[in-house]
Amino acid sequence: MVSVATLGSHCALQVLKGAKDEGLKTILVSEKKRERLYKRFDFIDEMILVDSFEEILDKKCTTILNKNNAVLIPHGTLIAQMSTKQIESITTPVFGNKWILRWESDRKLKEQLMIESKLNVPQAVSSPKKIKRLVIAKRHGAAGGKGYFLASSEKDYIKKRNILVKQGLIKGDSDLYIQEYVMGVLAYLQFFYSPLKNELEFFGVDKRHESDIEGLARIPSQQQLGMDYISSFNVIGNSPMVLRESLLDEVYQMGERFVSASRRLVKPGMNGPFCIEGVYDQDGKFWSFEFSARIVAGTNIYMDGSPYSTLLYDIPMSMGRRIAREIKQAAKIKKLDKITT
Ligand code: ATP
Repeated sequence: MVSVATLGSHCALQVLKGAKDEGLKTILVSEKKRERLYKRFDFIDEMILVDSFEEILDKKCTTILNKNNAVLIPHGTLIAQMSTKQIESITTPVFGNKWILRWESDRKLKEQLMIESKLNVPQAVSSPKKIKRLVIAKRHGAAGGKGYFLASSEKDYIKKRNILVKQGLIKGDSDLYIQEYVMGVLAYLQFFYSPLKNELEFFGVDKRHESDIEGLARIPSQQQLGMDYISSFNVIGNSPMVLRESLLDEVYQMGERFVSASRRLVKPGMNGPFCIEGVYDQDGKFWSFEFSARIVAGTNIYMDGSPYSTLLYDIPMSMGRRIAREIKQAAKIKKLDKITT
């Protein structure tokens, strides 16, 4: 019998609850300090306690996971706490495509995949000298929006960059990626692609609440002008959203282009959950600045199903449960290798 394992953080509760709802055994790899939290939930069958998540590479951990025929569900914490090389060296079967996670972490590869998917990507600005209009400067890696700032001229940029250097958050320009800022409504589009059914499902859309850029918008401009500090886009939480129905066809098309581009660039392609992240401008055109090639924490708001999963399933279907269903189905027809790497 196959089981589902994940790291104790991010969307672990959703993933393991979904797996239990599908009748699968659940295993949580948890840091010792979090044991007290996760013990509260009956749907977690077994816990592997570790001092650090890197221990999933160790023999002790892999032996337990292998004994249980576990499939490991990757999420944001895996990416944030382990290097790409470490992730690629995981011997436990990883749900989806572990090779594509490198494309998520590396800005150049990320841009290449987005362009190959024919997504509208905001223009990158190659040097601070070329700043002509409002831009956003982002730190490399999964910084989660912390220390990202807006600038409308080279002078403005240099001032803010120097503050970040002083704070020890960056060493210099090479740690920053500059991109044109797109004004509009942010939307994070959640998809699931099933290689078993060869079908794309649009699962939901969420908004992110980022501090303190959101707080800044609540302050009158007179007060903003007198402030000498750097805004941040640090994600604090998510809330649900539905799109105008007329936008849905394009949403599916973007998802499908992403799936087929991934298949061309990084085999076996984009299997399982993923998210395309961006902004709808005033003409309803979607500009994407980012993707996540695995389950995103924004799916946690739909543990009981989303307005879109309701259209596809007659039972409350979370992304976690959808993953478990795919695993169950693949195990039944002996095709686990088709959905894991
Ligand atoms: P994470 O790893 O948490 O996804 P990240 O480091 O990859 O974050 P982005 O998702 O690219 O960073 O950006 C963080 C936030 O900055 C976005 O949620 C959005 O609010 C804002 N943002 C990024 N790029 C743009 C853009 N081109 N125009 C407008 N807003 C942007």
